[in-house]
Amino acid sequence: MTTPLVFTFILLAAAAAAGAADNPAEPPGAKPGAAEQGKVAPAHVTARQIVERIKQNVGCPWAATTVDTFKAGNPDVEVAGVAVTFMASLDVLQQAAAAGRNFVITHEPTFYNHWDKTAGLEGDKVLAEKQAFIEKHGMVVWRFHDHWHARKPDGIIEGVARKLGWEKCLRPGEAAVFDVPETTLQALAGELKTKLHASVVRVVGKPPMKVSKVAMCPGAGGSAGQIKMLQRDDVDVVLAGETPEWETVEYVRDAAAAGKSKALVLLGHANSEEAGMEYCAEWLKGFVTEVPIQFIAAGDPFWSPK
Ligand SMILES: [Zn+2]
Repeated sequence: MTTPLVFTFILLAAAAAAGAADNPAEPPGAKPGAAEQGKVAPAHVTARQIVERIKQNVGCPWAATTVDTFKAGNPDVEVAGVAVTFMASLDVLQQAAAAGRNFVITHEPTFYNHWDKTAGLEGDKVLAEKQAFIEKHGMVVWRFHDHWHARKPDGIIEGVARKLGWEKCLRPGEAAVFDVPETTLQALAGELKTKLHASVVRVVGKPPMKVSKVAMCPGAGGSAGQIKMLQRDDVDVVLAGETPEWETVEYVRDAAAAGKSKALVLLGHANSEEAGMEYCAEWLKGFVTEVPIQFIAAGDPFWSPK
């Protein structure tokens, strides 16, 4: 009994695989091996459908007012592949297009301001070039910012912690304070620079200062929150993306001059959050399986003379 049944199954599986391979509607970026796994019909998914799945999986209510919206392209276009990035820069869009990833999920704005408003940029040649590239390659861009942060735990902080190997260092009851093995400010800053692939890291505070209580304030969360963290006795260093230089920077300079063990590491916005989007790509793979998903690093936009 066993042999004929197995043989029948092999025949059916082979027919299904052949059918899928012959179907001209198979998306060009479909995962190799899908047919071998016994899928009869090729799976189709649109950008809008992927976003709906993200809304179902992110674990926090979807806000009525949010920057997490489509920024360019047709949301109902069939997705061949997904590129996840910190920033949909022209360079990242080019890499995504070359790899056949026509749906780009970006953490930060595409068009140079928080709401991606193009008013005031009419006739701008840089904007026009970017828009033309997106259109020419049939790409769709969607921003995933507010809700990736609102997720518990914050998806960006979790991703950066993973990148740094700090998963087990999160202080119980805290969302963003880590107790790391004691080191010096200089060594910590060097470690961050290496692990986060930063070109430029700026540090305020005394290099030999001992640090172990680290608050993570990724991106541009604002000086008020950064200073509030620095006021705490159980925090000695704040890691931030960016800050107005005359606010938190000067607060820490005065704290150090007053003999207090306080420090600030300005990682740069991209360096402070990029690993959080690398993690987002892995998270997406858990419930988007029809198409390939690839993280594309935007990298540090800055350089500094030696
Ligand atoms: Zn962010």
